[in-house]
Amino acid sequence: MVQGIGNWLVKHCKVRPDRLALVYNEKRFTYLEFNERVNRLANALLSLGVRKGDRVDALLLNTNEMLEAVFACAKIGAIFVPINFRLSAEEVHYIVNDSRAYHFIYDSRMRPLVDQLRTMKSSLLEYIHVGNQPHYDDLLYEKLLEEASPVEPGFEIGIDDIHLMMYTSGTTGRPKGAMLSHGNTQWNAINFIHNTPVDYSDTTLAAAPLFHIGGMSVFTLPLIYKGGANILIDGFDPVRILQKINDEQVTTLFLVPAMWQALMSVPNFDAYDISSLQFAVSGGAPCPITVIEFFQKRGIPFYEGFGLTETAPFVSILDKENTIRKNGSVGKEPMHTTVRIVDPLDRDVRPGEVGELIVNGPNVMVGYWNKPDETKEAIRNGWFYTGDLAKFDEDGFIYIVDRKKDMIITGGENVYPIEIEQVLYRHPNIREAAIIGYPDEKWGESIKAVVALKDHSQTLTVTDLIQFLDGKIARFKMPKQLEIVEALPRNATGKILKTVLRQNNSKG
Ligand code: ATP
Repeated sequence: MVQGIGNWLVKHCKVRPDRLALVYNEKRFTYLEFNERVNRLANALLSLGVRKGDRVDALLLNTNEMLEAVFACAKIGAIFVPINFRLSAEEVHYIVNDSRAYHFIYDSRMRPLVDQLRTMKSSLLEYIHVGNQPHYDDLLYEKLLEEASPVEPGFEIGIDDIHLMMYTSGTTGRPKGAMLSHGNTQWNAINFIHNTPVDYSDTTLAAAPLFHIGGMSVFTLPLIYKGGANILIDGFDPVRILQKINDEQVTTLFLVPAMWQALMSVPNFDAYDISSLQFAVSGGAPCPITVIEFFQKRGIPFYEGFGLTETAPFVSILDKENTIRKNGSVGKEPMHTTVRIVDPLDRDVRPGEVGELIVNGPNVMVGYWNKPDETKEAIRNGWFYTGDLAKFDEDGFIYIVDRKKDMIITGGENVYPIEIEQVLYRHPNIREAAIIGYPDEKWGESIKAVVALKDHSQTLTVTDLIQFLDGKIARFKMPKQLEIVEALPRNATGKILKTVLRQNNSKG
């Protein structure tokens, strides 16, 4: 019996074959057409020698080919590895060799990067090119599909087989391949659908990168599970997003906070009609409260969720009844997953107390690829240790306090940067804000604010900042230093790279 996620498409073809599955530019595919293309790719990969457990790496944008590759690999038991296309050739090379892939699918827009990769010694044997023109002697994607059979490959796939490997973005070290099983992805979809109003009549806009777990598995894969429509957009342009929401009557949208910020900064935002949006979600990084309020004031239901690559990713989300009332919280755990917040001795903390958030459930990854020690460290007695500090309130709502690694200890007091950053975002001239610690002989660590301004013609000094923060945060949390930058360093999913800020700071 086929138990994997490939079975979702088989079922849709039986039940509602003519429903819209994917839209990419002028291309529109029903579930029947999508499944046929998936089968053709699956059969083509088989004829190229891809076997169960093999890795197929890819540099693809948010296009139909990306999702075809996900499901084609799933149907033949291969492991799909979508790589962040904003990485350097050396970084892509690291992932290709770490995953030991033989087959590589790339979009023609990635040619310069792929051509650099070609010059490096790697495990790759075959390149598949998504584009119209031949490039080297790479196989052409569409030609492969044309020549392959559209029949179901008919593989036995177990729910515990791995179908997806996503490399963590490496904000806290070298990227690690998180192995996600068919079961992980399926339970994530079940959790998501149980805890949100998503249905097959929904249309989502896949604008966050699909090589990242947020883009792939917040709306896109759960909505495919449910049989809804996915509009794919290959590049982040806030104006294009606002237009697409209206053109395609998009009902659900996930973006990371930096993308939501860019959207609300579109000068004539209120001129766009985005009233079709029923459900907007932010996750992947702390969302400034000012962003949440901006959308809620315009009547857009806006929720914050929390998750990680290693948990496929859904861990918690604020629900409809509690949004606004509990803004700032990431909600509660979903139906099939349990969250605890524990102290260093693994004892549950009381409401209001800060501890590490740990997760247990069928969405917790199988482990890190080829990294048994890191896997043992991260998953203990079935609990995944997120490295995130959090607290419950009296009503059991979860608040993410900060990453363990970003916590600052000054004069023996724990300081959580996110708390100060949230206040800084309320400053009328601060566009971006990050708080880091720096070594201080007297206090152990002291606090530094790094900010980007909205209006550069106005100055901002550390004294101005302290005046603004006075009464809003405790004195020991006050920044002693201020640096003004053009923009904060961010990774491909918009996460602020605090390691880079700390390194820059220590270099002086
Ligand atoms: P690496 O693990 O290599 O540093 P990464 O952090 O980018 O990479 P992801 O799986 O993309 O890996 O991100 C998960 C992390 O994102 C969480 O551990 C948490 O720190 C942060 N995060 C996700 N959602 C939220 C949220 N709503 N609020 C605050 N932080 C969040």
